Amino acid sequence: MELLDLKKQGIDIKEQIPLSRYTFTKTGGEAEYLAFPKTTDEVEKLVKVTQENKIPLTIIGNASNLIIRDGGIDGLVIILTELKNIEVNGNEVTADAGATIVDTAFTAANHGLSGMEFAAGIPGSIGGGVFMNAGAYGGEMQEAVKSVNVLTRAGEYKTYSNQEMDFSYRHSIIQENGDIVLSATFSLKPGNKLQILDHMDYLNALRRYKQPLEYPSCGSVFKRPKGHFVGPMIIKAGLQGKQIGGAQDSTKHAGFIVNKGGATATDYLDLIHLIQKVIKEKYDIDLHTEVRIIGKEN
Ligand code: FAD
Repeated sequence: MELLDLKKQGIDIKEQIPLSRYTFTKTGGEAEYLAFPKTTDEVEKLVKVTQENKIPLTIIGNASNLIIRDGGIDGLVIILTELKNIEVNGNEVTADAGATIVDTAFTAANHGLSGMEFAAGIPGSIGGGVFMNAGAYGGEMQEAVKSVNVLTRAGEYKTYSNQEMDFSYRHSIIQENGDIVLSATFSLKPGNKLQILDHMDYLNALRRYKQPLEYPSCGSVFKRPKGHFVGPMIIKAGLQGKQIGGAQDSTKHAGFIVNKGGATATDYLDLIHLIQKVIKEKYDIDLHTEVRIIGKEN
């Protein structure tokens, strides 16, 4: 079976598509093939065909934590945003990998379930959120996840418990084993619906006040080094507002890099490298990126 045979069977597969259409930074090169599976069965078929034909496979959720180099991505890119079912059972919410974190958090809130308030404004998908152990305002996926269903690259279905996910700061085991997250179940507590929704509104207001949401970006670019805050270091180093091409270190939140118009992934990466170099020279601190950088050089 060839990849494009699956297109004839009705799976949505496109060719040579600019990924800048999907990334939150509005940058990035082309995917050789791009698929939007609508069911787990379609994901399984796509994974199997890439294994059989030795086609490189890249999984993307909402593309809110990604810089895709301008040379694009060879092989097949799967975007999982069509897998978006969310179900509530008692105190548990199960969301497909492509459901947004925001929709999942609001579904929980609307059922009077507390524990996902922190996630009310994180613009990723459940798959990306679990992969990253996304967190904000003192909460993290780790605290709410009960179990995660995955498909391995070898085509095996597995369920990981919270412990087996090996969560830590912006880390999960999925970053090492390459599994594909299909869904996650969250274990939540009954609460007062209006209080939960109020708290989420408050956190989103804070976000709008502090973050440059009016421009494309990928959120916080760097992980927080132990004992330090990235934004103040960048400001003290005189780099806030620094611009390379269309990529600018945000004048509103120095930990963000915004696309002021026409930025390329190369602009982003050049600015990231400059910030890393200056911070190393000035503070002897290695800044590691939180944003995932994938794809080929131009
Ligand atoms: P993507 O960007 O699509 O992918 C990220 C990584 O996850 C990639 O390596 C990808 O291969 C992998 N991945 C995605 N889906 C799957 C899957 N189903 N199976 C296996 N691997 C997968 N993050 C926070 O933690 N806290 C915040 O407060 C926060 N605020 C943000 C604010 C803004 C304005 C923006 C733009 C981003 C912010 N982020 C924040 C970053 C981002 O939203 C999170 O990291 C989110 O979890 C990424 O999810 P995604 O679906 O967009 O992942």
